[in-house]
Amino acid sequence: MSVSAAALRELHRILRQLSDLRSRLERGPRQVRLGEDNVKRLEAIVAEAKDTVQKAKMSADDKELQLRERENRIADVKTKLNSCSSNREYQAFVEQIAADEQANSVLSDEILEMFEKISELQEVVTSSQGDLEKGKTELGAIRGRVDDERASLEGDVARLSNELQEAEAQLPGDLKLDYQRIVKARGEDGLAPLDGECCGGCYTKITMQTFDELRLSKPVFCKSCGCLLYLPEDRDVTA
Ligand SMILES: [Zn+2]
Repeated sequence: MSVSAAALRELHRILRQLSDLRSRLERGPRQVRLGEDNVKRLEAIVAEAKDTVQKAKMSADDKELQLRERENRIADVKTKLNSCSSNREYQAFVEQIAADEQANSVLSDEILEMFEKISELQEVVTSSQGDLEKGKTELGAIRGRVDDERASLEGDVARLSNELQEAEAQLPGDLKLDYQRIVKARGEDGLAPLDGECCGGCYTKITMQTFDELRLSKPVFCKSCGCLLYLPEDRDVTA
């Protein structure tokens, strides 16, 4: 039973490329998910900013209502000033008006401050909405790119899978089962080139006898890690 180093090199090349293509295929959906998570995060920021504005507006409305109620009360008390039955009552009304006017003056300042605050909060909403739009645009671009890549990667996977089938069909029957077992268990790492005097998979030194077997194109599995060994092109005496 013999198998050429060239055939094993070709097999390993195809296995490695397939594994690379498959990991690139898996990366696409991961990138889309990251983009989607980002959009969700930005949506939550926008919602929270809007909520903050809403609460500030309600609070400002409350204060304005309070202000108007007090203004009405002041106007009401002023009409009573002329019909006071005693000086004492008159004095009490005047003091009440002064107190209410003072309270309203403080409240007006507070309302003005709140309006300023609301306009700042509005700007936060606007800028977070801008970030969200940007995030959505990026997500669209990622989806488009991943879709394009997927089509091309799937084409490559199909082509290489055919090449793999053809290359595997060339393996001698006795070797096929052992090859399938190791590749099923370890994928592309089931094969390794000789690296110096070592197995390229586990870097254990091989014996002289193993090396001779490799040169004679006999199938050799590393005694240490079990992978199928082959000679690299620059050391392939049969090439
Ligand atoms: Zn090894």
